[in-house]
Amino acid sequence: MRVLKFGGSSLASVERFVSVATIVQQQAADDTICLVLSAPQGVTNTLVELTDLAYLGSDFSALLSQLSTRYQTLAEEAAAQFPGAELSALQQVMSQQLAQLQNQLTGIALLRHCPDHIKAQILGLGEQFSVALMTALLNAKQLPALALDAVTLVKSTGDYLNASADIAGCEQTLPQAIAAMPAKVYVIAGFVSSNAAGETCLLGRNGSDYSAAIVAAAIRAAACEIWTDVDGVYSADPRQVKNAKLIDRLSYDEAMELSYFGAKVLHPKTIGPLARYNIPCYIKNTLNPTAPGTCIDNSGGGDALVKGISSLEHLALITVSGPGLKGVVGMASRVFASMARAQISVSLITQSSSEFSISFCVPQLHLAAAKKALQQEFELELQTGLLRELTILSDMAIVSLVGDGMRQHRGVAAKFFASLAQARVNVVAIAQDSSERSISAVVEQSACKNAVKVCHENFFSHVPSIDVFLVGCGVVGSELLAQIQRQQRFLQQRHVKLTVYGIANSKTCLLNGEGIALTDWPAQLQQAQGSFSVGQLSQFVQQHHLTNPVLVDCTSSEQVAAHYTAFLAAGFHVVTPNKKANTASYSYYQQLRALAQQNRRRFLYETTVGAGLPVIDTLQGLLNAGDELLAFEGILSGSLSYIFGELEQGVALSEVTQKAKTLGFTEPDPRDDLSGMDVARKLLILAREAGMTLELDDVEVESVLPSGFAKGASTEAFMAELPELDQAFSQRISQAKAEGKVLRYIGEISGGKCKVAIKALAAEHPLAKVKDGENALAIHTRYYQPIPFVLRGYGAGAAVTSAGVFSDIMRTLGWQQQV
Ligand code: ADP
Ligand code: ASP
Ligand code: MG
Repeated sequence: MRVLKFGGSSLASVERFVSVATIVQQQAADDTICLVLSAPQGVTNTLVELTDLAYLGSDFSALLSQLSTRYQTLAEEAAAQFPGAELSALQQVMSQQLAQLQNQLTGIALLRHCPDHIKAQILGLGEQFSVALMTALLNAKQLPALALDAVTLVKSTGDYLNASADIAGCEQTLPQAIAAMPAKVYVIAGFVSSNAAGETCLLGRNGSDYSAAIVAAAIRAAACEIWTDVDGVYSADPRQVKNAKLIDRLSYDEAMELSYFGAKVLHPKTIGPLARYNIPCYIKNTLNPTAPGTCIDNSGGGDALVKGISSLEHLALITVSGPGLKGVVGMASRVFASMARAQISVSLITQSSSEFSISFCVPQLHLAAAKKALQQEFELELQTGLLRELTILSDMAIVSLVGDGMRQHRGVAAKFFASLAQARVNVVAIAQDSSERSISAVVEQSACKNAVKVCHENFFSHVPSIDVFLVGCGVVGSELLAQIQRQQRFLQQRHVKLTVYGIANSKTCLLNGEGIALTDWPAQLQQAQGSFSVGQLSQFVQQHHLTNPVLVDCTSSEQVAAHYTAFLAAGFHVVTPNKKANTASYSYYQQLRALAQQNRRRFLYETTVGAGLPVIDTLQGLLNAGDELLAFEGILSGSLSYIFGELEQGVALSEVTQKAKTLGFTEPDPRDDLSGMDVARKLLILAREAGMTLELDDVEVESVLPSGFAKGASTEAFMAELPELDQAFSQRISQAKAEGKVLRYIGEISGGKCKVAIKALAAEHPLAKVKDGENALAIHTRYYQPIPFVLRGYGAGAAVTSAGVFSDIMRTLGWQQQV
């Protein structure tokens, strides 16, 4: 005989009841079946609500008639599908239940009291309704089915609402009842049982799984099948983790740990009775009956190191501490005995090695009772200072990693905690089962989902995610989005999930929890309503449990740059080609680095100097290896490289500036380039990178334009005035030519000073050949001398800059190695 248990999710409607009946019919073809049923989905919750309303003295009649209608509808729909069905027993159960409810709820309301044994009678009614309905349906399908009374046949001990199995008691009742009445299918209610005195006791919420295990153990069933709404046990709750993996095999121990630490698919007590009699357990899907499901047995199997991750939420962590705990025998047992007396389950225990404190988790709901029990137990010790005041952390959760294979392996715990750090989750307490089958960490409830998500990514899916928020969609920003779109397939092949969740410009901010389709982002952005702010973005990140958010700033705005600290503090990486943050005050510069470090986030700005050329990274690499910057010279502006190259060919300053502007080589206002400030900022970034504590004012700048030239004029007016400078410039060029030299706009660091100036270079000078928008950087270091380290290539342009930004975005994945 096999036991098949169908949960509330499999019994939500008459269609579902019928599907279950069909499955049972197929299964009964070659075996006798004992069917354990839950209440129709939602009914137990309604019964809980009804008792709560009555207890509070509130009007429960509307909810009671809702329940009556639900029952009636199920019965009528069943009658419609099976016109010949014998429903009188069902009708009788319904009217009895409704009358009983009316009476008991009225009594509770009058007394404002609801004893647990009455509550147990009420909450178990739903399963008994399911039994009556299913028995009628099976018989209507010509399958001889017999209803068994769980209240008399399933025996338990302990609490009325949370009883434990009395297998020996069940062995006296169930096999005999079955032997006495032959049938193909026996139908029995889950969740309900009775104690030795015959009083109704419940097996705890979600307890029908446990009922099935008790029945299976008592009749020594060949198998116990738990039929639910998922294909089996997954590596994490599939409702929480999108790409959770189905587990084909689990050992009893693994299943026990997973369910104990919150995998709702199995009631935590289910495995005990099955393991005791070595009865295999299968988790199967009512909605997909042909799927093989998960097999839980003695052999476990599978070579996965870690089988699953589960989480237990709504907990409080209590710490009992004080000198009275040190070396005193029996203190720990008093702590836990007081919890047991108050019937509070303790889900994780840790003790400091000095024996000075014991911490443990209890359900948040039972915190007040737990506190009271401890205060009573240790009244004396608390008064005399042998124990300190209890320390309580509310709203906690436990995240657990489970797998038999962890035992033989090193590094699993390290990876677990590294993952928690990556999710920026603070670990409050840790416990490891001594069999090394599970490791658990207590974390704040609010961080629990992120913790599970990142651990799952690292242990199972190996698809790390990057969650991009782009601000600024000018030339570089738009190109970046196009590159991201083109690169999607490549990234998927390499198992990286890069999603753009937000795009903002100075006017609006577009956010989409599913990720923004990059094919028509401009149209979507135009219709967007929101505005860009740190608060809004971090709320979005929390709401969608994004674990690797990256702010990509493609503006040149000082305001946006001023918010990087807030973004880093809120857990964003910051990637940017915007030079404003790194050239703001030195204290802000330091603050950014400190915050990135503290929050384990990256601040990446490779493209602020030399666009896509690997300048910053190379310099950092050299400095990390103990090198030292001695001097630097270079052409750091793509636009000035172009302009000076053309000047050398004899083109007038005004003409080449216009040309550069038209080609998009300059900023919208070419004065931003010609003033030399852009180069000054780049130089400052390099100098600071090399450890110099300079401010922007410390950089000596020779502007291409005479001071005060076209001051206050519009861009057009400036362009119109520019020819006035042509002659002076062409003279300077010819003079240099006469000396065999060319003019170049050079940034220089030497002797601890930064200088930006137009320099006349001899033709053989390496920088003399750099033009046409090219950048060249000669880095003189302790190791690279007398021949400097030279980087050369396009130092401007949307494609190379965006590619550089893209590459920085990708580097947010490698943070663990690099922090
Ligand atoms: P039933 O009504 O059949 O008893 P439950 O809702 O009690 O069903 O349990 C099934 C649910 O358990 C699934 O829908 C799933 O969301 C949840 N669940 C939590 N953790 C896991 C897990 N590791 N594997 C599978 N399901 C899980
Ligand atoms: N119906 C009960 C509950 O909702 C038992 C169960 O479904 O397992 O808790
Ligand atoms: Mg369940």
